[in-house]
Amino acid sequence: MARYIDASCRLCRKEKEKLFLKGDRCYSAKCALDRRGTAPGQHGNRRTKVSEYGMQLREKQKARRFYGVLEKQFSNYFSLAEKQPGVTGENLLRILESRLDNVVYRLGFASSRKEARQLVLHGHFLVDGKKVNIPSFLVKESMNIAVKDTSKKSQKFKILAEAASGKILPKWLDADYEKMSGKVVALPTREDIGIEIKDNLIVEYYSK
Ligand code: SF4
Repeated sequence: MARYIDASCRLCRKEKEKLFLKGDRCYSAKCALDRRGTAPGQHGNRRTKVSEYGMQLREKQKARRFYGVLEKQFSNYFSLAEKQPGVTGENLLRILESRLDNVVYRLGFASSRKEARQLVLHGHFLVDGKKVNIPSFLVKESMNIAVKDTSKKSQKFKILAEAASGKILPKWLDADYEKMSGKVVALPTREDIGIEIKDNLIVEYYSK
């Protein structure tokens, strides 16, 4: 499957916002956006007037890159969000948050969504006791996500679980780091997600 393989930090510089694509580095002084906040390329310093369409496009791209989702899949998520009752923009964010790779990252079993994607692909996680190696798998309320027994012994998961045990989890998730497992207490509300994405602009983008 095609993936974006260019330097992750360029994406943040393009969006002029931290997308937290590189784990711990994003919180350190090494963050490329903190060190060099201009857009990539020789015209990165140029100030340009952004049209209404441009703003909608940027917001869609930002959300897509934040969750590491390709264009077609993002558009499919939007169609799904439109069919659900409630506010389309909020539905879209809820669907994106429900992806297994995002949940693994939110639980702290990976330092970035990109790493979570890799770990899921390599079959390190069980959902309700069954191996799931599809990063786009959408979790549902009350599902259990656990590190596979054989993977629990690896030093990598021990370190991740130890680091994660000091983290504050989003309130829609619960975790037991001794058992290296987590639970979806409830699917998140817009308030729970709390990221700086203007979902109304994404809805406008797709409504044209
Ligand atoms: Fe973005 Fe992280 Fe790179 Fe900073 S370190 S620019 S937040 S990917």
